[in-house]
Amino acid sequence: EKIAREAEIPFYRHQQRLILGQNREIDPKSLEDYLAVGGFQALSRALFELTPEQVVDEVKRANLRGRGGAGFPTGVKWEFTRRAPGELKYVVVNCDEGDPGAYMDRSLMEGNPYAVIEGLMIGAYAIGASEGYVYVRQEYPLAVSNLEAALAKLEKYGLLGKKILGSGFDFTVRVHRGAGAFICGEETSLIKSLEGLPGEPKPRPPFPAVRGLWNRPTNINNVETWANIPLIINRGAEFFNSIGTEGSKGTKIFSLVGKVNNTGLVEVAMGATLRDIIYKIGGGIPGGKKFKAVQTGGPSGGCIPESLLDTAVDFDELTRAGAMMGSGGMIVMDEDTCLVDLARYFLGFLSDESCGKCTPCREGIRQMLRILTDITRGQGQEDDLERLQELAETTRYASLCALGKTAPNPVLSTLNHFREEYEAHIREKRCPALACRELIAY
Ligand code: SF4
Repeated sequence: EKIAREAEIPFYRHQQRLILGQNREIDPKSLEDYLAVGGFQALSRALFELTPEQVVDEVKRANLRGRGGAGFPTGVKWEFTRRAPGELKYVVVNCDEGDPGAYMDRSLMEGNPYAVIEGLMIGAYAIGASEGYVYVRQEYPLAVSNLEAALAKLEKYGLLGKKILGSGFDFTVRVHRGAGAFICGEETSLIKSLEGLPGEPKPRPPFPAVRGLWNRPTNINNVETWANIPLIINRGAEFFNSIGTEGSKGTKIFSLVGKVNNTGLVEVAMGATLRDIIYKIGGGIPGGKKFKAVQTGGPSGGCIPESLLDTAVDFDELTRAGAMMGSGGMIVMDEDTCLVDLARYFLGFLSDESCGKCTPCREGIRQMLRILTDITRGQGQEDDLERLQELAETTRYASLCALGKTAPNPVLSTLNHFREEYEAHIREKRCPALACRELIAY
């Protein structure tokens, strides 16, 4: 009855909640509830009907791409780890979600931890791993508590440990709490943090698939990626391929926030347009204001203007639009938002979160932030835009890890689409966006 009622509500009617849907049907601490909605049927199918190679093949044929941001094909990644030499291998859930305003992984981990664990177990079986870790950020206490309750129950009923379900598959899982560093979402930093070392990225190669946790082959996927696995094994690669676009299959969860009437977690088939998400699901812009831009991909993503609102949510299309899919953050801005200040805000966040290991990132972000701060204070110089562009390009080219390589995106995308707004700040000492017009009175 509740589901039928939801179908009447536009916020839900235009979504396809294949991954989030079970959250409303189960008590996340109840194994019985999860079993009642078909939980662990996919694991059982994998263990008793498929070889590990067939599981990898199914995930490859499904064309699932990693939901953590990079969009790398999950089945290919599994195959690398599976083929890497070594007896002891690890699988890891990355739940170090740190983008401002994003809580997709948190919701899955809090609302349906069994689905994530089931996906992890299927992956472990396919890859040949006998130990798994769930890396959860410290700021998610309910996720940790629901996860630990789920793991305790699975151990009690023999669904974790030795000879699971009477098969030859052994598997254990440990929970590790992160200490609040955004950079630990990056795979090589996460591995160092798991090893008890400061979370700083390492150059690749070697890739974690070959030399990861304690130098053993390690496969890391984010929460949403693991949560897709039971669906793929239960319903098959053909079903999964029937949803989405040519290059991006399945659904994607977004955290729709900002200047939009209906905020919340939104799950849509890949290929839905930004316009559909913001207007049909989000209900448009509050207070009769005009839409100005949407930031996708978190602090390292890009700002998309109204002229590109018909861009589909698809890994490649969003990149072509000068933004990125990222892990699913989607921040809507109206006509009152100052986009120079937006770029300054994200650079401030990334400056705080840069680990400082390499100079182009550490100093490049800091210098861009200084220029942006001057511009928003009405102290910008005529040649600032040229210097911003140069710093952005050097930081992108010379930084070691994805944080530095993508940090210039908010600057470059706002410069590209809203250059006149920068120029008004510098030349006329005013902000064209209503909300901060009065702030520039120097
Ligand atoms: Fe650290 Fe930034 Fe260099 Fe990455 S790019 S290693 S976050 S300093």
